[in-house]
Amino acid sequence: MNDCIFCKITNKKLPAKIQYEDELCMAFNDIHPKDRIHILVIPKKHIPTIAYLEDGDEKLMGHLIKIAKELAKKNGCPGYRLTFFVGKEGGQEVFHVHLHLIGK
Ligand code: AMP
Ligand code: ZN
Repeated sequence: MNDCIFCKITNKKLPAKIQYEDELCMAFNDIHPKDRIHILVIPKKHIPTIAYLEDGDEKLMGHLIKIAKELAKKNGCPGYRLTFFVGKEGGQEVFHVHLHLIGK
């Protein structure tokens, strides 16, 4: 997606403080952190919202959660929140699926 800011980040056309990257996903610091740790874990594949998930995306989505868990541990978070906002009415602002990892 040419006009998607998170695709631009995965394509390295926009800068981000990258915390993790592999062939399926990327994790980077949220530009407006809500707590000490605020990392977004995103699939490299462009999926606009959770509502657009298709059969076969289960493994990818489980992978995002696993990477978030590992980053929480690496960053010394004793507890944390993992959140998806879904759709405009659900508070979603960037229409490329992202998992918020927010922790103290
Ligand atoms: P939402 O779509 O409401 O789940 O949240 C989008 C999140 O992306 C917000 O927390 C923003 O601060 C964050 N954000 C927007 N643009 C960037 C960017 N260029 N780099 C990092 N985080 C961003
Ligand atoms: Zn995208």
